[in-house]
Amino acid sequence: MKESMIKCQDLIFEYSVNGEEKSKKLAIDNVSLNIDKGEFVVVLGHNGSGKSTLAKHMNALLLPSGGKMYVLNMDTQDDKNIWKIRNEAGMVFQNPDNQLVATIVEDDVAFGPENLGIEPKEIRKRVDEALKKVDMYEYKKNAPHLLSGGQKQRIAIAGILAMRPECIILDEPTAMLDPSGRREVINTIKDINKNYGITIILITHYMEEAVEADRIVIMDEGKLIKQGTPIDIFSDVYTMKKIGLDVPQVTELAYELEKSGINIGTDILTINEMVNRLCQLK
Ligand code: ADP
Ligand code: MG
Repeated sequence: MKESMIKCQDLIFEYSVNGEEKSKKLAIDNVSLNIDKGEFVVVLGHNGSGKSTLAKHMNALLLPSGGKMYVLNMDTQDDKNIWKIRNEAGMVFQNPDNQLVATIVEDDVAFGPENLGIEPKEIRKRVDEALKKVDMYEYKKNAPHLLSGGQKQRIAIAGILAMRPECIILDEPTAMLDPSGRREVINTIKDINKNYGITIILITHYMEEAVEADRIVIMDEGKLIKQGTPIDIFSDVYTMKKIGLDVPQVTELAYELEKSGINIGTDILTINEMVNRLCQLK
């Protein structure tokens, strides 16, 4: 049986605006979601749909106003679980500059395990290992602020990996990067998921990144409105457009071709698949 990584049941979260009880903002509206260990899940949705709020529940930065949130079957509302939950579920945020704390790459990666009170010899081992996993080992003596955005995000990911978490939650980690930086970060994420079995929850606006996931979850106005494989989600171009979300460019092209009577199918997510289908057309 698959082991549960993240489980939320009827989750509700309200922000109290300006600390006033009267003016509350419902940001998560009755969301139930299960994520198994080892899965790669992408969360899509408009700005303000509740993605970041949901992510912050996954490592107990926020606690439910209603319903339940479990991380590795530990209730986030139980104080004695917080420390363990934060170590097992690491977060990576949008702006790499806000996440780097030290002036040398290897010190930065060591920061997390140092805070866990791990002994220096073990830290050394973990730092080297984590830097190799994100392919930044040769930069270990460099200054983080001189690296590219993609490299900085990989250092931030190494810092989390050095804490040996089960799960990494990434909240729009590629939003501030150029296309090559985005590719680097996505390849790193895929690699640590496939080769090291780390559960990935990735929030993104880039449909090309979502195509890589095992499963896509769609949020809208605080609700989880749809989930499925990338093929399930994107081949339903009509619904995606109705919600106001994009689909990958080639999927959209296939949809338009179908509409104009060219029988190519709408289950196309990559350029290679498109090329294959086009070549098979009679
Ligand atoms: P997303 O990450 O999908 O853009 P968020 O989780 O950041 O969405 O926000 C969900 C809703 O909660 C939005 O309506 C947003 O305005 C509101 N919100 C987010 N943070 C706060 C806050 N600190 N105080 C009050 N409302 C907030
Ligand atoms: Mg957000």
